[in-house]
Amino acid sequence: MSIRRVNRFEQERGFITAQGIKRVARARDVSGLDAQVSQQVKQKPLKSLEQVEHRLLVVLHTKAGEVSTLDREVMYVARALAEIQGATEVHALVFGQPNEGLSWADYGVDRLHLVTDEVFDHYVPQAKAAAVSELYHELNAQRVLFGESELGDSDLARRFAVREGLSFGGELYEVTETSVRRASGNQRYQAQSELPQVMALEAGTTGDLDLEFVTAADSSVASAGVSVQAPQEDKFSLPSGDIPLVEADFVISAGNGVTNMDTFNRLAELLDATVGGSRVVVDDGKLPRERQVGATGQIVKASVYLAIGISGAVQHLQGIKDCNYVIAVNNDESCDMVKRADVSVIADAEEWMQGMIAKLEAAQ
Ligand SMILES: Cc1cc2nc3c(=O)[nH]c(=O)nc-3n(C[C@H](O)[C@H](O)[C@H](O)COP(=O)(O)OP(=O)(O)OC[C@H]3O[C@@H](n4cnc5c(N)ncnc54)[C@H](O)[C@@H]3O)c2cc1C
Repeated sequence: MSIRRVNRFEQERGFITAQGIKRVARARDVSGLDAQVSQQVKQKPLKSLEQVEHRLLVVLHTKAGEVSTLDREVMYVARALAEIQGATEVHALVFGQPNEGLSWADYGVDRLHLVTDEVFDHYVPQAKAAAVSELYHELNAQRVLFGESELGDSDLARRFAVREGLSFGGELYEVTETSVRRASGNQRYQAQSELPQVMALEAGTTGDLDLEFVTAADSSVASAGVSVQAPQEDKFSLPSGDIPLVEADFVISAGNGVTNMDTFNRLAELLDATVGGSRVVVDDGKLPRERQVGATGQIVKASVYLAIGISGAVQHLQGIKDCNYVIAVNNDESCDMVKRADVSVIADAEEWMQGMIAKLEAAQ
């Protein structure tokens, strides 16, 4: 078989391992979700390895207890590499307490190592790199994979590679069983190299996948094994309005369906959410240019993106591809934002916002 790419494959086709077995299929239409899907998931065969010769390590941080789309992609890439090579386990080192019910077995991880010590909530990059090193040696891991994320994983990947003197590839958008690629020169050139020992992957390598098996995803709490002093630091929080969109965790965004910006701004204030908007709203002068979300605006990586009266044009959706949960409020149930959203409210925007404001004010 000649096609062995881990990513940039057509997802309908999946990818083909050295043994010629199709392992990954595109995520099914999940609009009907819930019982039906979880039943299907239960029926998937359990992946078990009789012999383990290699181990791959994925390092990630939870955000509000959740795992980002990017981190799921990194796990899928690790799984795909493991499948191609055979006799390879995928381990995940997770900083932060994950929410219960995360389906690690569906992400292709064989074993979880949770690092939940509160000291890691502080800015302790050397200690984190030391924790990764410890597990790397304990597992004798062949490669370590990170997401290119401002949450700290980009920084950690580089620190770890330098600390261990390992080969490093960053900003990777393509991985095959033998090589990696990254774009350079404003996407005009591509740099290709052999598979490095430490890899930092860009978002969009695989998209969300639906593996044809589940893993045991055995959970164990890893000890960081390093004595870490929490640094003296003053914690302070910025008003949400002062947080740049790219760093905001909770974004409320207005589209052309928002007729009253005063109502919108009041709701944003009560929710303590950072404000964004579609290009139409920005072009209308209702929000400053730096608040535009989308391909020609800001790329948002929020845990929650609340889109009010936004149709979901492709340029806008490009700006929210890394958001964990999208909530759409729209009076058109067939619009693309509703299709993209995890939760949708089909309602008049002004009426819904007024209702929310009344409830939030009453709760104050
Ligand atoms: C080169 C290029 C780059 C672009 N870059 C960007 C970009 O970075 N970001 C971006 O956002 N756009 C961008 N655009 C524009 C993009 O194509 C869309 O035109 C724009 O995103 C639409 O904004 P909207 O959804 O707010 O407005 P509309 O398309 O007008 O949609 C309004 C939505 O509100 C809903 N609605 C209407 N009334 C109500 C109501 N009373 N209650 C509830 N819902 C209601 C409608 O059903 C509809 O879904 C770009 C376009 C081009 C050509």
